[in-house]
Amino acid sequence: MPQIHSQKEDTIIALATPQGVGAIAVIRLSGKDAIRLTNQVFFGKNLEQQSSHTIHLGTVRDGEKVIDEVLVSLFIAPKSFTKENVVEISTHGSSYIVNQVIKLMIRKGARPALPGEFTQRAFLNGQFDLAQAEAVADLIHSDSEASHQAAMNQMRGGFSGEIAGLRTELIHFASMIELELDFTEEDVEFASRDDLRVLVEKLLRVVENLISSFDLGNVIKNGVPTVIAGKPNAGKSTLLNALLNEEKAIVSEIAGTTRDFIEDEINIGGVIFRFIDTAGLRETTDTIEAMGVSRTREKMKAASLILYLFDLGDTDMVEIHRDVNLLENLGVPFLKVANKMDKGNHQLINELKDIFPDTIFISSGKRENLDGLKKKILELVNLDKFKTGNTIVTNIRHYDSLNRTRESLLDVLNGLEQEVTNDFLAMDIRRSLHYLGEITGEITTDDLLANIFSKFCIGK
Ligand code: GDP
Repeated sequence: MPQIHSQKEDTIIALATPQGVGAIAVIRLSGKDAIRLTNQVFFGKNLEQQSSHTIHLGTVRDGEKVIDEVLVSLFIAPKSFTKENVVEISTHGSSYIVNQVIKLMIRKGARPALPGEFTQRAFLNGQFDLAQAEAVADLIHSDSEASHQAAMNQMRGGFSGEIAGLRTELIHFASMIELELDFTEEDVEFASRDDLRVLVEKLLRVVENLISSFDLGNVIKNGVPTVIAGKPNAGKSTLLNALLNEEKAIVSEIAGTTRDFIEDEINIGGVIFRFIDTAGLRETTDTIEAMGVSRTREKMKAASLILYLFDLGDTDMVEIHRDVNLLENLGVPFLKVANKMDKGNHQLINELKDIFPDTIFISSGKRENLDGLKKKILELVNLDKFKTGNTIVTNIRHYDSLNRTRESLLDVLNGLEQEVTNDFLAMDIRRSLHYLGEITGEITTDDLLANIFSKFCIGK
């Protein structure tokens, strides 16, 4: 492992806050000379004589020219995010000022940071393991309470600690078994096979739990894939727009917030729902009837949730029974949503209450009982699991490594069962260790690291 915090020779610089105009902008430097270089352009006091974790007011000057009045925060190695010397310069938030300061610092000897390079240095200097570094990226990209929670949990250690502990125990067994190989003549057993089996089974349980959390993790990260199904004119687009507009209204009430709305993503109670194929809603022909058509069927099957929407003024019980049957056979959780209750078809409403008491009655046009619908949606997807702080795998790379770990652990168990020779057993254990190590970064290759950190933005 390439650990032990090294002070890199080169000092990197990047804007740490978003591009564009803001009240302030923060420029970050990391590396051996971060403080010395900043001191060359900073007027107010000698930064090289200040202690760590202090803030200083002064001006940044290019020769005689004052570029801006700034606040400089100092973090002296190893007490910083990267474990190197780190300087954060808070300037006024104009892109002109930011560019001038960065250009000046580059002239003094800093170099522009590559994407994710700050986090990469933090990882290389042992600040956290690879799974945690990836969580930093997830955290930056999280746009819902659920994905934020999952990323926070992972960044704080998440499953890394548990895996690391079990991995250490397994290493112990591997070395014992390899030691036995040196004593083949003597028929000794340093590593108890029963203890090994217990440990491998324990590891398997942990790994399998993590694997099965991935579906949930994926949903949290990318949104719950949802389909609104129903006949033309049932009110599908009206419902989608009503839900979207509500969310916009809620967000705009919070002063100063802006958010880009992705047309088919809706945040309900902190969970993102991604509505599939909403662009073509108006054109879709009878979705339910068309379910025989495999393409439609596949689309609905890919969903985690279907809102079956029907018009109270234009549907009868026979039709509803038939649709519900089709949906039940599909096996995807669905809600029966009776729309246009303002039309007041009391006979059908009463029948429905009797036969399908779980029907939700709404009026998407009049925005009635949308809260009731949202509540039922949340109940149905039951994402409570993530709120209890359980560890959830959200990263496809971890998921792959976990699956491979699982396979090799099963090989170890099989080997124990069939009493294979020590060298085979040792090989399978080594393979499990390899894949486990891939998750936390004990085992890495340059390609893997480059691939992970290139997905970060510059300045992270
Ligand atoms: P879609 O084809 O399923 O997407 O249906 P639309 O959303 O285009 O709605 C079809 C028609 O029903 C439009 O004229 C809507 O204004 C109307 N509509 C939608 N929701 C309601 C409702 O709750 N009550 C009433 N009375 N009309 C509605």
